[in-house]
Amino acid sequence: MTSSNWGLSPAVIKRIYLSGFERSIVYAAKVWWEDIHNNDTFVKIIRSIQRPFALAICRGYNTLSTDAALFLSGLIPINLILNLEINVTSLKRPDNIFNIGLADNIIDIPSKKFFCNPADFNLITFQKNLPNSSDLTIFTDGSKSENGVGAGWCAFYDNKIIHREAYILFPDNSVFQAENLAIYTALDKILDIWQNNWNQPLNGRDLYKWLKFVDNKRILGDAFLNYFLTGHGPFPSYFVKFKIKIPSPCLCNQINISHTHLLFDCHSLNHIRPFFLRQTNPNLPHIIATYKIELAQFCKKNY
Ligand SMILES: [Zn+2]
Repeated sequence: MTSSNWGLSPAVIKRIYLSGFERSIVYAAKVWWEDIHNNDTFVKIIRSIQRPFALAICRGYNTLSTDAALFLSGLIPINLILNLEINVTSLKRPDNIFNIGLADNIIDIPSKKFFCNPADFNLITFQKNLPNSSDLTIFTDGSKSENGVGAGWCAFYDNKIIHREAYILFPDNSVFQAENLAIYTALDKILDIWQNNWNQPLNGRDLYKWLKFVDNKRILGDAFLNYFLTGHGPFPSYFVKFKIKIPSPCLCNQINISHTHLLFDCHSLNHIRPFFLRQTNPNLPHIIATYKIELAQFCKKNY
């Protein structure tokens, strides 16, 4: 289906996965996932189904960890998606079979009679411009019209959109429920958990140095760039680590030819090394955000 430089584009594979494969996995999740979602063995199995798609999108080596492949591909871990499906299903279709209904805080409750026009209350202030702070800022909204009911939210960090979601609800859902759903599902069920998992010192730490924030809109599908971001690529140190080859010296006579050596240190590449890799303490997240194309070109030259 794909290789480092031929086959379906990463964006197409991701679209096929999200609109076809993932939807079929999560079908009727409430029935079969609810009882096993805390079982590590089942979580491992379900994640192994998702893994080939993540590897195909990011065009990574088979040795790449699933966490890193999902991160590069912008695929939310399937176990989190299943958890979300259960929650959303419970919200949209409360039933008695599982004794799950709408939680108290998201049910429309008739308001007490106002003693003055509600517009005269000036409890919430808002501003036209985006906040200038570098903190995480989240906007949510829900709306209802004759065309349907929907909810959505987006998260800004450092004044850039790092995540966004939108949902279509049933026509009989109210605006209040739509808005609560946006807040409830978005904040609690996906971004925080995935981000927290990514912050744990487990797999993909080479990649973590470059990219700290999860984003389900991300599609990093350049194989050569990803070799260098993850360290899983055709580097002598990689071949030695997996006992494929014995160590051999670099052109600059250093023995351990790792991806970081080629990126930052190797003297024989000084003449083509871009300026942003020559800094003493390079700001890796900034480099990948600003010079992704130039970095990918440098990586490809060294392949
Ligand atoms: Zn060297």
